Amino acid sequence: MRQSKGGLFVISAPSGAGKTTLCHMLCETFPNVRHSVSYTTRAPRQGEINDVHYTFTTVEEFRAMRDRGEFLEWAEVHGNFYGTSRKRIGEMMGAGLDVILDIDVQGACQVKEKVPDSTFIFILPPSMEVLRARLTGRMSDPAEVVEKRLRNALGEIREYKNYNYVIVNDTLEVALNELISILIAERVKLAKVDHAWIEKNFLKEE
Ligand code: 5GP
Repeated sequence: MRQSKGGLFVISAPSGAGKTTLCHMLCETFPNVRHSVSYTTRAPRQGEINDVHYTFTTVEEFRAMRDRGEFLEWAEVHGNFYGTSRKRIGEMMGAGLDVILDIDVQGACQVKEKVPDSTFIFILPPSMEVLRARLTGRMSDPAEVVEKRLRNALGEIREYKNYNYVIVNDTLEVALNELISILIAERVKLAKVDHAWIEKNFLKEE
């Protein structure tokens, strides 16, 4: 079945749920899906490449882009700005590609208002214990830092009801299959089919 336009898939999760790995695996293994490269003001981490993982920018440039309305959504997360470029996702969707937005719950809320027919997917860790263990991180982290991470994670989890799908990332392969199943189902939805193509190929009068 042909699609007239790619779909928009918003994926959120508390940190420690394995969202980034899942999104990466999805784009590697499934055709016609791309991860949208966000703009951020945070410094690159070791191994992160500009315009691949993020487009790293200054606070001034970020604000200028925001004021010109260039972001579909933007948010401040842990003291840094993050935003999704309208132009980037428009180009990919226009080329028939499904686009993955790996964004936080504040950004997801904005996308829901602006592009309500997007698909919203929430990823959960297998349990509270696993989340706590992952967020505890280095043994040297002070207890209040760990508690802050946990509070932030719980704040994100509280928003799960705003999403269309919830995936528990216990076994990576199972979670990936669930994610792929969602993309496949969304691609064949009536609202997404290319009606002009059906008309031309099946329903046009001889
Ligand atoms: P990190 O700095 O660890 O890569 O990402 C921190 C958080 O920011 C993650 O929850 C990630 O999903 C979110 N994030 C990344 N890009 C964007 C974006 O463009 N918009 C919003 N709202 N959140 C983003």
